[in-house]
Amino acid sequence: MSGLTDLHLHSNRSDGAESPTRLVEMAAEAGVTTMALVDHDVLDGLDEARGAAESHEIHFIPGIELSVEHNGTKMHMLVYFVEDEPGPLQAKLAWLREGRNERNSQIVKNLNDLGFEITIDDVLRWAAGKSVGRPHIADALVEIGAVKSRDEAFDGLLQDGGLVYLDRNRLSASEAIALSRAGGGVPVVAHPKTISGGAADYAALFDELVDAGLGGIEAHHASHSPELREHLTTMAHRLGIAATGGSDFHGNKNRDFRIGVGTGDLRVPDTAVSELLAQRE
Ligand code: AMP
Ligand code: ZN
Ligand code: FE
Ligand code: FE
Repeated sequence: MSGLTDLHLHSNRSDGAESPTRLVEMAAEAGVTTMALVDHDVLDGLDEARGAAESHEIHFIPGIELSVEHNGTKMHMLVYFVEDEPGPLQAKLAWLREGRNERNSQIVKNLNDLGFEITIDDVLRWAAGKSVGRPHIADALVEIGAVKSRDEAFDGLLQDGGLVYLDRNRLSASEAIALSRAGGGVPVVAHPKTISGGAADYAALFDELVDAGLGGIEAHHASHSPELREHLTTMAHRLGIAATGGSDFHGNKNRDFRIGVGTGDLRVPDTAVSELLAQRE
């Protein structure tokens, strides 16, 4: 009997709450039999997660999540089948994480100016790995009692365009796609629902990205309605690329996305994996 598929999971090597080992254990407990770890800008959790997945007989796909831009439009890009070893995409990761560090310090300054008394060390204490981001700044704000949750810290403050928000180093979508493909990875547009500007008309954007080498669309994301999942699946298949999906789990205390099932109704089809594999060729 095949279980659940979840191709969008975060560990504490970036902004998830759980270690790669614990994450895999929780996935197994949730009935997941195929999973991908996609930490932000970092590959450090892959070896540990793969080892744990083996002992739980879970099919493991290595991955990463990048923040990119395309003609001024920001979006996230998942890359599957990327390993923690030297490669063209891997060579850019230190630069991306350095951009995070510079941006984080600046956001902390902005917060200090508003009277929130946190330091960068307070932020770093919440990060177990070297990819540090706004969620860890949020954790520091929760610790001093300024807000109750990560969500509340994003609300108006850390969110894109929020009071203390600042952007950071990004690859363009076409660079990210080219670097991924050059190393044998399969790039997938993550949760299109959050593409800045709403991208009411995805068609033109997807056409351009497919020309650049895009291999899939994350149709089945926890935040998507059933209608949007179906719409994006149809678009992906019409373009001849994979329709993938996952929960975007960051830990049970963060957001409402649970491993394998999102807010409850998520069911990532098995075909997501076969379609991704076909994109590898
Ligand atoms: P950063 O990578 O530092 O730009 O932070 C963005 C990350 O914060 C996203 O990739 C999500 O993992 C997380 N995030 C975004 N919005 C929220 C929110 N409302 N509540 C909690 N976490 C969020
Ligand atoms: Zn995240
Ligand atoms: Fe994302
Ligand atoms: Fe994510």
